[in-house]
Amino acid sequence: MKFIRNCFLAVAAVAMLATPAMAAKTVKWKLAMTWPSTLTPLASPPLQVAKLVKEMSGGSFVIKVEGKEKHKAPLGILDMVKGGQYQMGHSGSYYWKGKDISTIFFTTIPFGMTTAEQYAWFYYDDGMKYMQQVYDRFKVLNFPGGNTGVQMGGWFKKEINSLDDLKGLKMRIPGLAGEVFAKLGVNVTNIPAGELYTSLDRGTIDALEWVGPGMDIKMGFYKVAPYYYTGWHEPASEMQFLINKRAFAKLSAEHKAILITAMKAASADMYYENFAASANAWEQMKTEFPDIKVKTFPLPVLKAMKKATDDLLNSYAAKDPQFKEILESQKAFMKKARQWTIISDYNYIKTTMELDQ
Ligand code: CA
Repeated sequence: MKFIRNCFLAVAAVAMLATPAMAAKTVKWKLAMTWPSTLTPLASPPLQVAKLVKEMSGGSFVIKVEGKEKHKAPLGILDMVKGGQYQMGHSGSYYWKGKDISTIFFTTIPFGMTTAEQYAWFYYDDGMKYMQQVYDRFKVLNFPGGNTGVQMGGWFKKEINSLDDLKGLKMRIPGLAGEVFAKLGVNVTNIPAGELYTSLDRGTIDALEWVGPGMDIKMGFYKVAPYYYTGWHEPASEMQFLINKRAFAKLSAEHKAILITAMKAASADMYYENFAASANAWEQMKTEFPDIKVKTFPLPVLKAMKKATDDLLNSYAAKDPQFKEILESQKAFMKKARQWTIISDYNYIKTTMELDQ
């Protein structure tokens, strides 16, 4: 934390100085991201970081961004940054849960914090400290890399009225949420993004989750599955910037400060970009397809999901002291943060909705 604050001060200091340090030879880095270069808003933060770093450093630090269409290893980002083939990466921390289950906390967990609550935990509680502890073993630095906000629960061809409707349902839902659904009898599958629409259309799967209106609209799911369920499983999915520790150590103090500032700005901007995209896409979807039915899972289903989530988290905590410590840190912070969310945002929205009735 102190380091990051100091970096902001350092940037201010750099701006006031003449820049003899920047006359040194150009630093050239490469960044590999999990996404194709065209998949905005997920691809936006790394592209923006590259632009900001080049501009702020007067061209003395340049980062070449490569999408998955180039490196062909969307889920190899952590290994490639650790190994030094790329100095930087952009991905999602929960993709590494097979390497270390504690990595899930730095993306999102089912029934976890909202975006504002989670950023407060990262930057003004213990989030950054724990994130660095977990990534130390990979010899990489990890920074927040942009948030999607609340993700929708997904597109379903049939309405879910009871727990029985989940039994045998074929659904694409990755991560911890997939484990939760599997416990409830869902036949969880993973299908490449490019085949999802056809799979849903032809009935190879009955349901899927993706992100939210802004990204879902491009996939066309609303044309073949009318039930759009509200979210529970990814309340604030944070992307990640990975940096090879040795490469970072070689940067000048100015370049370090520029990079850290650019990552923070670009991450915040992804949240704004996705919010606007979702607001616009939702308006368009509702107009073009008035038959879309927004649903929330029935309370008994949600209670079963919550219990399955708690059972899973507790079983991981029993096996892994670090997981237990981070889980407790998130729970403790969420408990007080949620009280503030309720009397501020939640009550404000509730009040204005009542006025409109
Ligand atoms: Ca998702």
